[in-house]
Amino acid sequence: MNVRKPPAPPASPGTVRVQKRQAQVPSGLRTKTCDKCGRTFELEPEQKFFLCRDCYEESQRRQHPRKARGTSILTLIRCAQCGGEEYLDFLPADPAEALCKACFTKRKREQKARSTHSIA
Ligand SMILES: [Zn+2]
Ligand SMILES: [Zn+2]
Repeated sequence: MNVRKPPAPPASPGTVRVQKRQAQVPSGLRTKTCDKCGRTFELEPEQKFFLCRDCYEESQRRQHPRKARGTSILTLIRCAQCGGEEYLDFLPADPAEALCKACFTKRKREQKARSTHSIA
């Protein structure tokens, strides 16, 4: 069988369309290509990762080999702040209120900033 697609019509001269941006992901997520494995993954606007989650976790494991050994129980939580899923290497007191590391760090910073008038 010879299925041949008709050639795409040539772009009209003068209007060169350069698509710099990839298809936009809703809810502010950006698509990034992993530096290590080349796969695309989603990234929150404030995050600056160069690796996909798999490679990131692998690099984390390599950076903290002691953590990986012994108690390697990871808890998958859904961040109460941004809704992203993340593995925590500890068991959060309340998984429903658990935050991803990014949001946790952010919240801690905010709490520190207004520690003068603490809100219960
Ligand atoms: Zn990767
Ligand atoms: Zn989060």
